[in-house]
Amino acid sequence: MTRSQELFAAAQRHIPGGVNSPVRAFRGVGGEPVFFERAEGAYLFDVDGQRYIDYVGSWGPMILGHAHPAVVEAVRERLGMGLSFGAPTELETRMADKVCELVPSMDLVRMVSSGTEATMSALRLARGYTGRDKIVKFEGCYHGHADSLLVKAGSGALTLGEPSSPGVPKALAELTITLRYNDLDQVRDTFAKMGAEIACIIVEPVAGNMNCIPPLPGFLEGLREVCDQYGAVLIFDEVMTGFRVALGGAQGYYGVRPDMTALGKVIGGGMPVGAFGGKREIMSKLAPLGPIYQAGTLSGNPIAMAAGLKTLELISEPGFFDRLSAKVQTLMDGLKERAAQAGVALTTNQVGGMFGIFFTDEQVTNYEQATRCNIQQFKAFFHGMLKRGVYLAPSAFEAGFVSSAHTDEDIQATLAAAAETFAALTA
Ligand code: PLP
Repeated sequence: MTRSQELFAAAQRHIPGGVNSPVRAFRGVGGEPVFFERAEGAYLFDVDGQRYIDYVGSWGPMILGHAHPAVVEAVRERLGMGLSFGAPTELETRMADKVCELVPSMDLVRMVSSGTEATMSALRLARGYTGRDKIVKFEGCYHGHADSLLVKAGSGALTLGEPSSPGVPKALAELTITLRYNDLDQVRDTFAKMGAEIACIIVEPVAGNMNCIPPLPGFLEGLREVCDQYGAVLIFDEVMTGFRVALGGAQGYYGVRPDMTALGKVIGGGMPVGAFGGKREIMSKLAPLGPIYQAGTLSGNPIAMAAGLKTLELISEPGFFDRLSAKVQTLMDGLKERAAQAGVALTTNQVGGMFGIFFTDEQVTNYEQATRCNIQQFKAFFHGMLKRGVYLAPSAFEAGFVSSAHTDEDIQATLAAAAETFAALTA
């Protein structure tokens, strides 16, 4: 028995499924999760002494690689000054100023402790601001686990939403309309029928929770037009894409300005942080300025702010995202080439520092296509790569991430592992 197996058995005594977030349990790929001891730069080290090149990056935050010395130092400096005050600190103002500078659609920003809190609070604000209850989201997008967002489409287009988890009240789910990603006609039809009842559209401007699916040209612009026409709030959930696809997020990359933005992951540099913000007119309705309530004991926590601020400072260096995208490009080109050599059908998507690989020969632009890929082949690929020291997300429906710590040698080593794995898939 490996140490990981022993620890997983022990974890299941008192932790549901042995994990504190379901995807970690490896149910999407089979087998048992690896337990980690430490991480540094592009590498994870497990409890059995094995090293892995990491393309999960704690699901997005670790854009500078693990335990970046400057981030660790920024945290260390703050530690002796107190862990939490529940009262204002200058660090929070510095964070708010920096976020609003980097994301110009945000006039005001409120810090929270997770991406889920950020999207949940943005929804409440959009509903309170418009006085409307219905919301529009897209199939395959994940926005955290708030009740209104754990909803799938009903049996036909434009039918009432159905809870995607027991425990979500049906009456609440019926207020969530789930449409096809990248299908602007469906959005227009929906608003033509019930636009006056819809508070907001929430969208991942690059979808990263059904693998990685960029918006088709015109999709985000179309959402902007529809929201303007019907007085609905456009919310970009940039928890994953913010400070990941470009310094200004997907909204900077595609040049579309939402009314509100949810942030998480990179903004905390690996600490539990989220944020939501947007137009002054909307954000001014938030307590204590306005009547819409939202709060948090640990919001704006000084240790978390120190890690996040240092991360934002370092990714603001000129050329950071060009270098990151170039690494992703080398990785994607190399994977496609190795797959073709082995006769494996593979397509890829990428934007900035995130990517998706699909075991199919079609270019994937929506959820339905993502589910049609060869998932069995992905599972075998995942385990083949794991065995060869490469850690990918343990699910065919998650984006991958490259960090600035990944060297060309890391990428070449990954491609060598992939060549062997692809060959084994077709043997
Ligand atoms: N929104 C998006 C786009 C996400 O990818 C995630 C998490 O993966 C969330 C929201 C929820 O964030 P958290 O897990 O920090 O609650």
